[in-house]
Amino acid sequence: TIQREEDVQTARLALPVVQDEQRIIETIHANTVTILCGSTGSGKTTQVPQMLLENGYGSLIGDSSPAKDLQSRGMIGITQPRRIAATSAAERVAYELGPTYRDRVAHQVRYDTTVSKKTAIKFMTDGVLLREIQMDFSLSKYSCIMIDEAHERSVNTDLLIGLLSRIVPQRAELALEQPEKYCPLKLIIMSATLRVDDFLSNERLFPTVKPPVLEVEGRQYSVTEHFSRKTKRDYVEEMIDKVARGHRKLPPGAMLVFLTGQQEITFVAKKLNERLNRSSSGGFDLSNGTDDYEDGYEKADDRDGFVENEDDDAHDENSGSEADIKVDETFEDEFAVEQLEADHKQPKGALRPHILPLYAALPVAEQQQVFEPPPEGTRMIVLATNVAETSLTIPGIRYVFDCGRSKEKKYDHRSGIQTFEVDWISKASADQRKGRAGRTGPGGHVWRLYSSAVFERYFEEHTVPEILRTPLESVVLQLKAFSIENVAKAFPFATAPEQLQLEKAEALLQNLGAVKGAQMSETGKQILKFPVDPRYGKILVLARNNGLLQHAIALTAGLAVGDLYIPQAQTNEEDDTAAVNTQHQAYGRAQALLSQWDDRSDAVKMLRSVALHAEHYSNGAAEAREFCRNNWLREKSMVEVQQLRKQLHAIARAQSNGALADHPLVPTAPKGKELQRLNQLVAAGFIDSVAIRADLLKSDGVSAGRKPKRAIEVAYRTLKPSISDAGIDRTASPAEREVQRSVFIHPSSVLAKLSPSEMPSYIVYSHLSKAVAATVEGKQKKTRMHPLTPIG
Ligand code: ADP
Ligand code: MG
Repeated sequence: TIQREEDVQTARLALPVVQDEQRIIETIHANTVTILCGSTGSGKTTQVPQMLLENGYGSLIGDSSPAKDLQSRGMIGITQPRRIAATSAAERVAYELGPTYRDRVAHQVRYDTTVSKKTAIKFMTDGVLLREIQMDFSLSKYSCIMIDEAHERSVNTDLLIGLLSRIVPQRAELALEQPEKYCPLKLIIMSATLRVDDFLSNERLFPTVKPPVLEVEGRQYSVTEHFSRKTKRDYVEEMIDKVARGHRKLPPGAMLVFLTGQQEITFVAKKLNERLNRSSSGGFDLSNGTDDYEDGYEKADDRDGFVENEDDDAHDENSGSEADIKVDETFEDEFAVEQLEADHKQPKGALRPHILPLYAALPVAEQQQVFEPPPEGTRMIVLATNVAETSLTIPGIRYVFDCGRSKEKKYDHRSGIQTFEVDWISKASADQRKGRAGRTGPGGHVWRLYSSAVFERYFEEHTVPEILRTPLESVVLQLKAFSIENVAKAFPFATAPEQLQLEKAEALLQNLGAVKGAQMSETGKQILKFPVDPRYGKILVLARNNGLLQHAIALTAGLAVGDLYIPQAQTNEEDDTAAVNTQHQAYGRAQALLSQWDDRSDAVKMLRSVALHAEHYSNGAAEAREFCRNNWLREKSMVEVQQLRKQLHAIARAQSNGALADHPLVPTAPKGKELQRLNQLVAAGFIDSVAIRADLLKSDGVSAGRKPKRAIEVAYRTLKPSISDAGIDRTASPAEREVQRSVFIHPSSVLAKLSPSEMPSYIVYSHLSKAVAATVEGKQKKTRMHPLTPIG
């Protein structure tokens, strides 16, 4: 058995999962598949792996252990949808296991692993396990697989559960035939909610035996809900105000504030520090923070999703309809101070704020701060994205502030339009957020920055499974690799995507040459070797025969990571004009530098950005950071680009029989025809994403009303039908309908500088997007294309 520190042991014994250890282990022993439901914080992620280890699972392969261990030989693997959860859980479990067993725990996420020969418990992202299944379908290195956070329904989780439903019986057979080599595989599906019907009553997933569902009772104290009377559009300002007042008025207890993204969190942290922390020095102070990167952001003031250059669009007549929703309920939206003060004895206002940000891209050491007790005399205020919804449980939370929104990638497969926008969360998510205030004890409160009417009317019951709102070409190609030819018929999806969605993916794969007939082609196999979207895989495969491999690697790494550029700061009237001018010029210089190789191709601009950054990066992190700051590049994304570049290079090298150098070379300026070929390569990966200038379409009698004055007003039409007629408002004026049918370049494109007459006839674009803020009325904006390169 494992000796744990006393405080660790005490904390464990209080967890519902540990209290139920006997029942859980017996069920897992007796069944190949078990579903375990328990509310957030009940100990699923950190305790079940330890229990399995203590009960003999996870014994090391090659260990000359007694015969009984043969039945449980191999690692205990736990998947997480998020990297932050995989690393944080591994760290926590290592700590709980203490010095003797610490090195049995490891994590593996993209670009980073601590796995060794000693690893018995391995936390990983779901993507890592998917890749492993491609290498070894029987997952022979594992004795147990736990799929965590299954309620989130990420594409990868759904795929894993489908695949594992086939791997488990296969392993049972192998264990019978070759017991000296294989043991049966245990599958444990864990969920923070009881909504597991899609897995449970899905005849295709588990046709013979329905897996047992174990429910662990988490103690959940009741939480008082406060809805806002009105729902404000600018919830960020409102949040700052509410949290600041709450901090002054509320009895001690940690606060958890749900926001939508990193920049928003940084902005709110800064404002709260200014308002609450003026005289004190003990609190969290971003301006002295270790993460310089954040500083660069604040100056730009680009809170996620807010400062879309879209607002530039002077002809967007409908803009500015900032109508707040008014509802007739008269809910108490102030802090119920009298009632709360009855149970608190300390003088109010005495606490200093201890403000901690929490989002996925935060370095692990800083993430861990939320688990540490706050300094004496302070109140912990955690500003988090939805990672704090179910993935991470922060101790001691008594007050939750919920903005009601989250930033989510969405894809409408009918229109082909992708949005990465702030939108309302589901009722189930709102419920999880509220629940964070009821873990520690009674007296929890949640303040919701939306009215109950908006909640009832606009919040979906549950979050839509990701598989229904994402392009599927990557999924389909991966499944074809397992010789699943008819994906729709043969694969046991927990929630099946629409036929049309699968057909579109299939068509694109045909176009890319990755699929021939219904089968994966040789090209498809090569494409799949690269852990990126099949489009990028195609570019890489082509580039190999083209002498442009280094360029293609740098470029596709940039495209795959995406979101590299920080938009130019919006300026306010009261801003210092001289400073604004200086900023403006610096921004212009940066853009000129980055588009130096080709001032019409956004793809080549990206290549140039990655190449320049690579040069500075090789001189050290500080220099690279400086470069990013001077050129409006997101440092963390750029570092990831360099890691991916290295990974792609290593894969290409492995296939080249040593013809390639050890490390990727920094791409040089394309010479002569190279530039053209490079742009053609990009086009080859996006052959289905071409737009033509609308005024070149002869059949089209109607012109889009007034003559465009700026490049971003020039109407284009996509060649493949993307904006379905269904999406067009029949009651709108002809000119308005024309706008709805058209796409326009995104203001961030290098092409935006051109005059309308200079605009190219054809443009290859990476994706379409539409700004749909989480508004109540859902005002329509123009569809924007994100150009890669002009063609023709
Ligand atoms: P679940 O997976 O059911 O949501 P967890 O296993 O993540 O629950 O958490 C169980 C308990 O362990 C919670 O009380 C949580 O606060 C605590 N915990 C989890 N991770 C850490 C950590 N890194 N540091 C301190 N406590 C932690
Ligand atoms: Mg968990």
